[in-house]
Amino acid sequence: MSDPGETPSSNPPLAPWLQTQLESLLVQRGHAWLLSGPSGLGQFELALALARAWLCEEPTPQGACGHCGSCHAVDVHTHADLCMLMPETLSLALGWPLDEKTQDELDSKKRKPSKEIKVDAAREAVSFTQFTRSRGTTKVVLVFPAERMNNVTANTLLKTLEEPPGAVKFILATDAAHQLLPTIRSRCLGHTMVWPDFELALGWLQQEISQAGEGGSAKKAASAPKPADLQTLLVASGGRPADALAWAQDASAGEAAQHWQALPKAMARGDVSALSDWAPAQAVDALQKLCHDVLAVRMGAAPRFFSAADLSAAAGKAGAGLYALASWSRELASIARTVEHPYNPGLMLESLVSRARLALNAK
Ligand SMILES: [Zn+2]
Repeated sequence: MSDPGETPSSNPPLAPWLQTQLESLLVQRGHAWLLSGPSGLGQFELALALARAWLCEEPTPQGACGHCGSCHAVDVHTHADLCMLMPETLSLALGWPLDEKTQDELDSKKRKPSKEIKVDAAREAVSFTQFTRSRGTTKVVLVFPAERMNNVTANTLLKTLEEPPGAVKFILATDAAHQLLPTIRSRCLGHTMVWPDFELALGWLQQEISQAGEGGSAKKAASAPKPADLQTLLVASGGRPADALAWAQDASAGEAAQHWQALPKAMARGDVSALSDWAPAQAVDALQKLCHDVLAVRMGAAPRFFSAADLSAAAGKAGAGLYALASWSRELASIARTVEHPYNPGLMLESLVSRARLALNAK
């Protein structure tokens, strides 16, 4: 049993639905796994827990022991037998070390960190698999998000993935398996991420936020989130707990929930300020959810992301016209494909909102 007075581990317990999946993966054989499913279901956390268990000196059926030298090395991101193959932006964000040459280039501002998994990094991973082991009997390469490998990078990894030397294991995790080369997919055992039960996810969310509050600032601890607000955020995230958690940690859960509930009405009014705190991709995602729900209600189905009451405040008694909604939906889908690089984000938001107002008020 761990002592609650110890310094908090960098590896908090896995969410219950991930723990179940970890245990079922651990009893299966396989040197290469592909974890796939929509974002926000915990692919990365599950992949890391699996790597930690494979590398652990005293693993249990529940996973890594959490206190051996190997577990500690994983927790402090210095395990010599674990290679994290990620885009540089993500390595930096999650605090995983980059190789010396890359770090030098980024420190001296010769170039910006890459959002893709670079072919050089894949070559490093291949040579990592070929050197002698330093710690235990297993080596692990974790690739995340696997869809950020372009064809050249993926092909660099392919042969090693097919015939890994010695006791090398691979875990690839993705939320866009369809973007992977078929040859990569076919060399891995597939695991589809399991959707958590809504109540279970809500309970987990509550626990995570209250723990973050205890360890965090007094301001956060003082504002314990209301269950109803967390429920709003979980529904708004389409039931994806990690997305809801990120959202609730970003702003206060109460404010974020209120903001979401007021969004339909704000869009019907054409209020640009309701989207101004969000990155363009987030704004488009929110509008797609709004459009989806207004359409669903209009067709007599239940909304998925908003409450019926908040939606009816937007569409009014007459209700938005089906034709206008359908064409708004198509436009949003097309914008979503290019939204990463808007020409002028401010102008884009204005046009998105004015389009939303038109569609919501069309007869
Ligand atoms: Zn261990």
